[in-house]
Amino acid sequence: MIKRWYYFIFLWAILWSCGDKQWKGQEPIQRVSTETRPIQYQWKKTYHIGKGLHFSNEFDGARLNGIAMTGEEQVTVLITPENTPINSSPWYAFKVWSDTPRNIRIKITYNEGVSHRYYPKYSQDCKTWAKIDSASYLLDSVSVAHKEAPKFCEFDLSVSPDTTWIAAQELIVSKDIDRWEAQLEPLPFVTLQEIGKSRSGKPISMLQIGNPESKKLVMILSRQHPPEVSGWLAMKAFVERLCVTDSLTQNFRNEYLTCVVPCMNPDGVDLGHWRHNAGGIDLNRDWEAFRQPETQLIRRFMQDKVIKGAKFYIAIDFHSTFEDIYYTISPRLKGNMPGVVPQIIAASAKQIPGYVPNIRPNDKDAPHISSSESIFNAFHAEAFTYEVGDDTPRNLIQKKGEATAVSMVQHLLK
Ligand SMILES: [Zn+2]
Repeated sequence: MIKRWYYFIFLWAILWSCGDKQWKGQEPIQRVSTETRPIQYQWKKTYHIGKGLHFSNEFDGARLNGIAMTGEEQVTVLITPENTPINSSPWYAFKVWSDTPRNIRIKITYNEGVSHRYYPKYSQDCKTWAKIDSASYLLDSVSVAHKEAPKFCEFDLSVSPDTTWIAAQELIVSKDIDRWEAQLEPLPFVTLQEIGKSRSGKPISMLQIGNPESKKLVMILSRQHPPEVSGWLAMKAFVERLCVTDSLTQNFRNEYLTCVVPCMNPDGVDLGHWRHNAGGIDLNRDWEAFRQPETQLIRRFMQDKVIKGAKFYIAIDFHSTFEDIYYTISPRLKGNMPGVVPQIIAASAKQIPGYVPNIRPNDKDAPHISSSESIFNAFHAEAFTYEVGDDTPRNLIQKKGEATAVSMVQHLLK
């Protein structure tokens, strides 16, 4: 069996420097056109592929573009993106059942030039998820032997007349996010409002937590990129910690207002996109040109607040990547609270034994095309991108999210 660590070592070796164990992060991002482009929709259907086996993509967040029996008990699925060019981070999600209980082997393949990223998860109820048994999990060994990223993965699965869901990460779609927001809304210091519509007309909601009259604001964003569920889980833990009843957060809520957009890209999330919105665009490259409704409405909201005399102190945009990393603004640039972000991160890490945060400040001249660079540039909020590893243990994600909330509150109340 090809070990997963081996894959990551060669895939990212080029980004590591000799003698320094910390991941250097992704290559700097480049300006691209964010003019709306067409997307390809999936054919939503249940595939009855014979021998009493059934596969379906008829649910929100699903992605399954084709399927074939390729052996006695082997099924090959094809996963393709919403459009191209696109980052090689293929999202997949489908459900399967069988007329009779049996074991099948599932091979997940992609269109040419795409590498496999996410370790498959399964669920019997679409709520609790577990990783596929590693004993039967195989990556594309030919590519791996040539020190190339794997093009497919395969694994065994027990199927029965009861539905089993398979997905790249836990399936958390806009309905689930609505439900979570509705749980917080009854709190006396929380308001929930629709701030606008997505490209295809879905509501984009905002939670406001704290003193609605306050001119001291914090901005929180998540799910610009649909599959980035581990980042969303960190945002969830962060926000829930801000809602706890203790004197620290009570003082913070009296003094500040935290504005949270838990799902920037509901179209992409529900359509099972790899990365883009329904306008076929990576939203986190549209913070300079503002050609997409999702980025426009956040900018408008922030501008309206600033016109009324408010000031944004912190902005955090939650994402996922291969490992935990924080992308911060160049320390040579000064915003509304210079130096506070590295202090918040360092103090949050101290709450977690053995955790050494990986911080990568951006270049001073980084383009303002991503949320954090743009929000820093336009509003001088101390902005950073909070990236969570795809496979970071979920309990650690929660601890870190809570620790970051506590640390931010302590620094903002100083
Ligand atoms: Zn992202």
